[in-house]
Amino acid sequence: MQPAEPEQLRRSQLMMGTIIEIVAYGQDQNLLESAISAAFDEIARLEKRLSRYHEDSDVTRLSKSSTGGEVAPETAAVIALGLDVAKRSQGAFDMTLGRLKAVWGFDKEAPSVPDKNAITDALQGIGPQAISLDKNRVTKSSPQLMVDLGGVAKGYAVDQAIRVLKNHGITSGAVNAGGDMYLLGQHPERPWRIGIQHPRKQQGTVATVEIRDKAVVTSGDYERYFEQEGRRYHHIFDPATGMPARLCQSVTIIAESVALGDALATAVFVLGPQAGLKLLQHYPETEGLVIAADGTAYESPGWKGYRAKP
Ligand code: ADP
Ligand code: MG
Repeated sequence: MQPAEPEQLRRSQLMMGTIIEIVAYGQDQNLLESAISAAFDEIARLEKRLSRYHEDSDVTRLSKSSTGGEVAPETAAVIALGLDVAKRSQGAFDMTLGRLKAVWGFDKEAPSVPDKNAITDALQGIGPQAISLDKNRVTKSSPQLMVDLGGVAKGYAVDQAIRVLKNHGITSGAVNAGGDMYLLGQHPERPWRIGIQHPRKQQGTVATVEIRDKAVVTSGDYERYFEQEGRRYHHIFDPATGMPARLCQSVTIIAESVALGDALATAVFVLGPQAGLKLLQHYPETEGLVIAADGTAYESPGWKGYRAKP
């Protein structure tokens, strides 16, 4: 007797400011249905805690408070991971850029280049030392500091969605949140093959990798940007200048968790190819592909192990 063909279920929803797609394979359509809907529920729950656009999220409460406060364990976990990357990257990754992001207006319809004073002001008191964590208590070093977990929260949510799928017994599936993805187990017919978006050619790829039980995360200057006087301004900031980071077009990280991959992709993007790939050496089981500002590709030593065989 032939084994039954595995069923596939694919769903997508607009959440956390992006389209989140979940696919799961298995024999039981009802199980796939309930697993995927529970995974989306988990993302919605986390979004309420981690988003600066929710009035009563931990992030909004922290930003409003002058000294900090108690946060949910999930929020503390995200901040702990972010602080580690912030310190190891010498502040290239920074979760205290909330005010800077606001002055650039990336949340609004028409973002524009702010004036110098507004940028200088928004950078006051920021940095890896500006927030600290003791268990679930966050302390801010200055009252006006605004927390923004946008560089890591989506990744964390994908990890948790994967955990929910696994708890439902799913052994093969994927979650993709606009370029932050995790590939669980084995695709039914072949390994998961992921084409990495070319930063300048909409239909093109810069590489194809074969992945199993790992995160693949890409940060690029083509995702959210505007142009003013012929220049591109995107939403990954160099905390040293308050301007969009200029050294890369895109960074892809392969890691054990999407949260780590997400934070590292942002950090490496700011640091640029040389310093960025050096940072990855602190994180075992982590590889990267950097497309520099001039279009040159740089790989970490172990990247080739993931390259798809033609
Ligand atoms: P995407 O959301 O497109 O996948 P990223 O993961 O790189 O891209 O996250 C970009 C977001 O991270 C920005 O919208 C902002 O909220 C936040 N951010 C911008 N610059 C930094 C930085 N240097 N460190 C940490 N977070 C940042
Ligand atoms: Mg990121």
